[in-house]
Amino acid sequence: MSYDSDNIFAKILREEIPCIKVYEDDSTLAFMDIMPQANGHTLVIPKEPAVDLLELTDAAAADLILKVKKVARAVKQGLQAEAITIFQLNGAAAGQTVPHIHFHVLPGSIVEAKRHASISADAEVLASYAEKIKSAL
Ligand code: AMP
Repeated sequence: MSYDSDNIFAKILREEIPCIKVYEDDSTLAFMDIMPQANGHTLVIPKEPAVDLLELTDAAAADLILKVKKVARAVKQGLQAEAITIFQLNGAAAGQTVPHIHFHVLPGSIVEAKRHASISADAEVLASYAEKIKSAL
């Protein structure tokens, strides 16, 4: 599948639409999921344009997983989460709704999580979780 540079995460990377940022470096951006499946649900995306993990270059994939670990540690510590679920969907048939590769970092259990990409959260509430995560980075 060819990369659509008008997808919502590409727009976030170009700062055309806002996000509640928790981490950024030269290759990576992490921000709060606006329809969180649990409090503190965070997304980690590479800046390299790629639809899914299979299309991401090996170098970017290797870098990205280290950033996912870094953010996951901060989510766990910052939110005092007992456990962390990390997941990543490849293709619409897998449930992927945004065609720019991203990892989900979810405090707690996927089994008890809310429905995927369905209920928007209040921006102030998301920002309060972002602050706690940032303080643990
Ligand atoms: P996926 O279905 O794996 O592609 O996940 C996309 C995720 O992006 C979902 O969990 C959505 O809730 C989330 N999402 C969609 N639009 C935005 C946005 N503008 N800012 C932050 N998260 C978003």
